[in-house]
Amino acid sequence: MITVGILGGGQLARMMALAGAPLGLRFLVLDSAADACAAQFVPLLGADYRDEEALAEFARRVDVVTFDFENVPAESAEWLARRVPVFPNPRALAVAQDRLAEKSLFRELGIGVPAFAAVDTREDLGRAAREVGLPAILKTRRLGYDGKGQFRIRAEQDLDAAWAALGAQAERVGLLLEAFVPFEREVSVVAVRGRDGEFRAYPLTENWHESGILAASLAPAAVDDALREAALAAARRVAEALDYVGVFALELFVRDGHLLANEMAPRVHNSGHWTIEGAEVSQFENHLRAVLGLPLGSTAARGVSCMLNWIGALPERDVVLDEAGGHWHDYGKSPREGRKVGHANLRADRAADLAEALDRVGAALGRRAQVAAPIARLRA
Ligand code: AMP
Repeated sequence: MITVGILGGGQLARMMALAGAPLGLRFLVLDSAADACAAQFVPLLGADYRDEEALAEFARRVDVVTFDFENVPAESAEWLARRVPVFPNPRALAVAQDRLAEKSLFRELGIGVPAFAAVDTREDLGRAAREVGLPAILKTRRLGYDGKGQFRIRAEQDLDAAWAALGAQAERVGLLLEAFVPFEREVSVVAVRGRDGEFRAYPLTENWHESGILAASLAPAAVDDALREAALAAARRVAEALDYVGVFALELFVRDGHLLANEMAPRVHNSGHWTIEGAEVSQFENHLRAVLGLPLGSTAARGVSCMLNWIGALPERDVVLDEAGGHWHDYGKSPREGRKVGHANLRADRAADLAEALDRVGAALGRRAQVAAPIARLRA
């Protein structure tokens, strides 16, 4: 019997455990929150990620360790890696935790990135604004997610406000100024690399955000072959450079037909949730296969899929259940503003049928805005 240890017990751990059950796997999650949603049916070790006694118990009870949460302290991941196999490796985790390190790596690998500059002081911010150009976005280097820890700077006169908002964090998590990209599209590559170096990528996914949080994903994205190949090649280069094992996502902007890398997530990713019903083998199962050294599964899409994220609260479930290709994913979390509490996957064999299903669901739930862009793409 193999037990997979997961650092972090949120919805990603929950969906990983659901995918691992048919493989006969057991799980143990480590999370400081007693109400971590994976713990509704996965054994929980409730402790802080820095608690060495808890880490020692965790290492004793599991055969391999992985993550549902990338902001686990790098030292804790390294501590565990000296005692039990940890995938992805702690260096990959450390790079992906730091926007400056990851953007520098992308650039070294010849992958396009928006202009960026590190910012430590108010003076740096002025210098960085001249170097990078405005408009720009000031971001925390570490611990930011879903648009948190970001400040849009439109013009010179916003610099003081940006510093007032984020300057206090410069010392603790570092800051980065990044050119604002007026992108045509946002896409992501969700890919998996095995212990033996085998690499497989899912079809490219197109994503739409609202207030910095993913609202909808459509896959396979309708992009030309050259763009798709370039995106997949970039993901492969990153994975190989980091000797990455497991699933990861590379988020990219498309600007004037070219790709600019935004960030990577060293874990299964929200923009890969469509793969649960929309791909031959889901990102969750493929992640487990990779970290356990099992044969990787097919990343081929089954028709066309659209994932709709439920933020804050769940809408009416039966509207989705009534759809032939409708699949409901409730994370078992209590509602809270800005919180990801579930998603729906809608799948169809033909683009026209998926567009119709999205139209019905969007109308019935009063969420026409959320489905408008995916429908427009499907009908283009
Ligand atoms: P992030 O936390 O970096 O993934 O940012 C969340 C979202 O904010 C992205 O998915 C984009 O929609 C937007 N965003 C972040 N950085 C930029 C940028 N440099 N230019 C334009 N939009 C951005």
